[in-house]
Amino acid sequence: MNKTPDFCGTIGNTPLIRLNKLSELTGCEILGKAEFLNPGGSVKDRAALGIVEDAEKRGLLKPGGTIVEGTAGNTGIGLTLVGNAKGYKTIIIIPNTQSPEKMELLSNMGAEVRPVPPAPFNSAGNYNHIAKRVAEETENAYWANQFDNTANTDFHVKTTGPEIWNQTKGNITGFVTAIGTGGTLAGVSSYLKTQNKNVQTVCVDPYGASMWSWFKHGHLDIDDGDSIAEGIGQGRVTDNVSLANIDEAFRCHDRHMMAISRHLIKEEGLFLGASSGINIGGAVKTALTGGPGQTIVTILCDTAQKYMSRLFDQDWLTENDLPPEDLSIQGMIEEMKAEL
Ligand code: PMP
Repeated sequence: MNKTPDFCGTIGNTPLIRLNKLSELTGCEILGKAEFLNPGGSVKDRAALGIVEDAEKRGLLKPGGTIVEGTAGNTGIGLTLVGNAKGYKTIIIIPNTQSPEKMELLSNMGAEVRPVPPAPFNSAGNYNHIAKRVAEETENAYWANQFDNTANTDFHVKTTGPEIWNQTKGNITGFVTAIGTGGTLAGVSSYLKTQNKNVQTVCVDPYGASMWSWFKHGHLDIDDGDSIAEGIGQGRVTDNVSLANIDEAFRCHDRHMMAISRHLIKEEGLFLGASSGINIGGAVKTALTGGPGQTIVTILCDTAQKYMSRLFDQDWLTENDLPPEDLSIQGMIEEMKAEL
């Protein structure tokens, strides 16, 4: 009989999808790792499982315990489902700016959801610090601490990196992704470098974040602009980011992300969230910079389902400086070329 031993065994081993039109237009193989097919619907199921298994091994998460986390949503979904399967409760501290769909999902899955007003990292009211305090005040609780807990990166070293290496039969030339915690980028980039140091590892940053500034200039000072992408856009060097082995960094405009997202729905049958669009924008910039013949892998983090009240509401988009426009994918490539 061919079966998975339990729910947690369904995390990972996702397919790699060729993005046909963008591959044709760039002369490169542009491949997306279909992380939206994880059981909780995102790449963050991996970090959730990695963090929980690590805490169990270290004796920090005990039977009947509670997992507490500050999360933009996806890690919370992963932790809640893994927690349900393993007998842990979850308390999720989430900025109240995140999409209502995510809050509803989390509470329907059984998490205790505590929305909090957004606050900068250096303020005591930041959702991560609140999560730490809630864990300290709750009996038999464990703070997952996804940003600085490097069990997050380790799980990508152990799973995502080798999967990509094997799926491309070692012919990968570049890997690109954006940063939320940095776990995906750090884990996959460091694994790929151990296999072939010539694989180009690339960070793509949304506007308003400072990771491009960090990798390009060694400081966090350039963080102009803004992005509607949820789950990415980091302003500090987390412990996971500090493990990343990065050769190149690009920024991707939300206009380009929207052009990619609309194109993928209409022409490739892929219904993806904004961070996937930013990632693919980074893959296209990598393709245009290095020229034809490359094999570039990026991450398709989650679907657009959790963001429908925003990504498909033109009034909301207009309020966020994204006027109605139909930038073709060819037009976007021409604009990107002009930026390089
Ligand atoms: N995309 C989405 C939709 C996410 O929720 C996240 C994680 N917050 C990421 C990308 C980034 O992944 P990582 O935390 O591994 O950097």
